[in-house]
Amino acid sequence: MSENRDPQATKFVYDFTEGNKDLKDLLGGKGANLAEMTNLGLPVPPGFTITTDACKVYLDSGEEPTALRDEVSAHLTALEERMGKRLGQPDDPLLVSVRSGAKFSMPGMMDTVLNIGLSDASVAGLVQQSGDERFAWDSYRRLIQMFGKTVLGVDGELFEEALEEAKAAKGVQVDTDLDAADLKKLVKRFKKTVRAEAGREFPQDPREQMDLAVKAVFASWNGDRAKLYRRQERIPHDLGTAVNICSMVFGNLGPDSGTGVAFTRDPASGQQGVYGDYLQNAQGEDVVAGIRNTVPLADLEQLDKNSYDQLMQIMETLENHYKDLCDIEFTIERGRLWMLQTRVGKRTAGAAFRIATQLVDQGLIDEAEALQRVTGAQLAQLMFPKFDEEAKTERIARGIAASPGAAVGKAVFDSYTAIKWSRSGEKVILIRRETNPDDLDGMIAAEGILTSRGGKTSHAAVVARGMGKTCVCGAEELEVDTKRRRMTAPGGTVVEEGDLVSIDGSTGKVYLGEVPVVPSPVVEYFEGRMHAGADDADELVVAVHRMMAYADRVRRLRVRANADNAEDALRARRFGAQGIGLCRTEHMFLGERRLHVERLILADTDQEREEALTLLLPLQKRDFVELFEAMDGLPVTVRLLDPPLHEFLPDITELSVRVALAESRQDANENDLRLLQAVHRLHEQNPMLGLRGVRLGLVIPGLFAMQVRAIAEAAAERREANGDPRAEIMIPLVGTVQELEIVRDEAEQVIAEVERARNVDLKLSLGTMIELPRAALTAGQIAEAAEFFSFGTNDLTQTVWGFSRDDVEASFFTAYLEKGIFGVSPFETIDKDGVGALVRDAVRAGRAARPDLKLGVCGEHGGDPESVHFFHEVGLDYVSCSPFRIPVARLEAARAADESPGSDHR
Ligand code: PEP
Ligand code: MG
Repeated sequence: MSENRDPQATKFVYDFTEGNKDLKDLLGGKGANLAEMTNLGLPVPPGFTITTDACKVYLDSGEEPTALRDEVSAHLTALEERMGKRLGQPDDPLLVSVRSGAKFSMPGMMDTVLNIGLSDASVAGLVQQSGDERFAWDSYRRLIQMFGKTVLGVDGELFEEALEEAKAAKGVQVDTDLDAADLKKLVKRFKKTVRAEAGREFPQDPREQMDLAVKAVFASWNGDRAKLYRRQERIPHDLGTAVNICSMVFGNLGPDSGTGVAFTRDPASGQQGVYGDYLQNAQGEDVVAGIRNTVPLADLEQLDKNSYDQLMQIMETLENHYKDLCDIEFTIERGRLWMLQTRVGKRTAGAAFRIATQLVDQGLIDEAEALQRVTGAQLAQLMFPKFDEEAKTERIARGIAASPGAAVGKAVFDSYTAIKWSRSGEKVILIRRETNPDDLDGMIAAEGILTSRGGKTSHAAVVARGMGKTCVCGAEELEVDTKRRRMTAPGGTVVEEGDLVSIDGSTGKVYLGEVPVVPSPVVEYFEGRMHAGADDADELVVAVHRMMAYADRVRRLRVRANADNAEDALRARRFGAQGIGLCRTEHMFLGERRLHVERLILADTDQEREEALTLLLPLQKRDFVELFEAMDGLPVTVRLLDPPLHEFLPDITELSVRVALAESRQDANENDLRLLQAVHRLHEQNPMLGLRGVRLGLVIPGLFAMQVRAIAEAAAERREANGDPRAEIMIPLVGTVQELEIVRDEAEQVIAEVERARNVDLKLSLGTMIELPRAALTAGQIAEAAEFFSFGTNDLTQTVWGFSRDDVEASFFTAYLEKGIFGVSPFETIDKDGVGALVRDAVRAGRAARPDLKLGVCGEHGGDPESVHFFHEVGLDYVSCSPFRIPVARLEAARAADESPGSDHR
C-alpha cells in the first residue's frame, strides 16, 4: 500500500455494481469483470469484492485493516437484504462463494471455497428450500472438504480417501450414486477429520466461515505455489489478491440445471461460432474433475433453448463490449442463466493474429489496437516448425531452450561425421559437450544442435540462433562422451551414434526416436514461397502479412540483421532487414583459411606475416563483394576481427598430447612444436578479457589494415559493377578513444590509398562497438572519433555483471531465477537498470558530442521483444538481430512506437 494513503479513508469493499473492468489493480481481474458484467445488466449473482489494498495491508501487518470488518458487514447486510435471506439463516440460508482474484489470472494459486453459510443448522433449511435432501448434504460435505483443505490446511487426500471408502462400501463408482444418508455419514466423518487434523471444530458460525476464508485467500498470495507461478510468469510480488464474495447459484439442482464454459470464438482458430462445453446437473468443479463427460455447448440448444438463446445473446454483447475474444463460466439454476465469470480469453499464437485482423474487419478495433493484440513472442512461435502435439514421445532429458524449432536426426558426436552423413543425405543432430568455432561446418550440416554445457549465449546458442537452427544447450543431465560417440541419459538410456533423436528448441526437451514435425506456413510466407495475395492463401498468413505491413508503416526503429555471409544476408532481406548491423568476420577465417591464420600467428618476420596477410586478402575481399551485392543499397556494418587468436589454433591439450607422443617416438614435427609454443604463448586465463578486439588490431601489425583493405576494395569493385555498396567499418571492444583513434588513422590511410588507386569516393564510415563499461562511460570522448556506435550488449552484459557469458547460464542461473534475483537472464532481456542505464547515458553523451551519431545495437538483445521496446525508448536508430528474429523485431518496434507518448496511433 502506498505510504501516503490514509488507511482510514481507503475503501476496501466494492459492490459488484460499483466496480468496472478498468479497476483490475484494485478488484483483480475476476472482480473487475464481474462488476463490468453487472453494469452491463447481465445476470450476475449479486456480491462484492474485497480489494487488493486490503490484502496488501494483511500481508504487510499480518492483520486485516481494522475498517474491513465493518465494511464487509455493511456489504453483507445489503446483500442479505437484496436476497431476502441472511448468510447461513437456518430455515433459508444465503450461501456465498469466496474466490481469490488477482490482477493477473494465477491458476492453481488457491481453490475456491463454495457454499459458505452451511452448518449443521442451515443444512436443514437448504433441504427444505431446495426440496432435495441429497443436494443439501452434498453441498455441506463439499464445504467441509474445501474449507478443511484450503482454509484449515487439512491434507486433502484424507477427504478424498474417505469419499473413496464411502463409494467402495456402497459398491458404487461415482459420487452421484451416494445418497443423502451416505452423505450425512460422510459429513460426520469429515468433521471428525477436521477436528483431528486442524485441532478445532469445523466452524458453525457462517460469518466466521466467511472471515476465515477471506483471510486464507489473502495468505494464499504468499503460498509456495503462488510465488513460484509469479516468478515464472514475471508477475510482481507486491500486487496482492482481491477476494470475491458472491451469492451461490447451483447447477446441481436437477436436469434443468447445469454448468459450462464458453468462448465467444474459437481460441485455437479465432473462428466465430459456438465453442464450449456444458455439463448438466453439475457444479463447476465437476467439470474440472472430469467426473462425467461434458457435451458440446451446441447441445444446450436442445436441452434448454431459452438459456441457450440468452447465452448466445450475452456472448455477442460481451464480444462487442470487450472488442475481443472472451471466455465465460456460467451456471443454469433451474432454467435460469447466471454468469459467473468472464475475461478476455487466452488464445494460441495463430488465433491472436487471426482474431486481431478479424476484429479490424468487423470494425470493432482499428489497426493500432490490433497491433497491441499480437506479440513478437507469438510471431516467433509461429515461425518455428513444431513437433506434432498428438505424437507419442519418449523424453530423455531437458536442457535450455536456446534456439527454437523442432529437429529430428541421427545422433552424431563430431562435426566431421555431421558433414559426412549430411552429404550422403542423412539428417543429423550434432551433439557436443559444447561447441567452438571449429564446429561451425558441422552445425551448418546438422538439423539441430544439442550440447550438455553452456547457456543461451554460449557459442552453440548464439550461432544456432544466427542460423535459425534448432538448439538445445546446457542439457546437463546428459553425459556426452564424444570419444566413444555416445551419450547417456538419466536412467541409463544410452544414445549411440546413428540413433534417432528429436530436440525441441522451444522447450529444451530432448526425445529418443523420431517425433513428427509440421512446417511453419509463416516462414514459407517470409521466404516468399507462399503469398498472402494468392487465392488459396492461408488465413494465418494473410493475417500476419497485414499486421507486418501495418507494423512497418508505424515503427521508427529500423531493423538490421546480424549476418556473416551472402546467404544469410539474402534471407535477412527477404525477412525485411534494412541492412546488416553486424557482420562478424571471424567465421571468414575458418576452414581451409585457418592455415593462413596459423601462418600469420607463427610469423617470425614482417615478411612472413605479410605473406600470410596477402593470402587472406583476396579471400576476405571475395566474401565482402558477395555480402555487399546481397545487401546492395543497404548499410552493411563489418566488424573487424574480434575473438582471441588462440581460437584459430588447435586445442592446447590435444596438441600437447600429439607433440608428446611424437617426441616419444622421436618423430617431433617442427611445425607442431612451433604451434605448441604459440598456443602456450597465446594461452590466457580469461580470454574474454584478453587479447581480442581492437587490442588484436593494435598488436598484430597489418591485420586490421588487411581487413579494411579487403572491405574498401570490395566496395570499389561493387561500384565498378554499378552496385551501391554501403559499408561501415566497426572496431570491436574499444575501451578508450585512443585505441579507436590509432586504428581509425590507419584505416583512413588504407581507404585513401584504395580510393586513389581505384579513383572512387567510397564513403565508408568508421565506428565502434560499445561493449565495455569504460566505453559506455566515456561515450562522449569516443563519439569524437566514431561516426556510429553499435552497442554490443552481449559483452556489455558480461562485463557489467562480471558474468562469463559462456558459463553462468548453465552453471547457476537456474538457482538465481529460482531465488527471484532476476526473472529472466540478463543475457536474454536487457537489464534496464544496470546495462540499460549505461546504454541510455552513452546515447545521451554520444549524441551530445556528435549530433548525427548513428546508434544501433547488435547484441542478442536486438531481437528480444522487451529489449526492443527499451531500445526504442532510449532513441536508438536501429536494432540488429539474427535473420529469423527480424520479423519479431519489426513487429515489436512498431508496438513500441505505438505505445510511446505522443504517438499518433492511439
Ligand atoms: C556483443 O558483444 O554484444 C556482440 C554483438 O559481439 P559478440 O557477441 O560477437 O561478442
Ligand atoms: Mg562482443
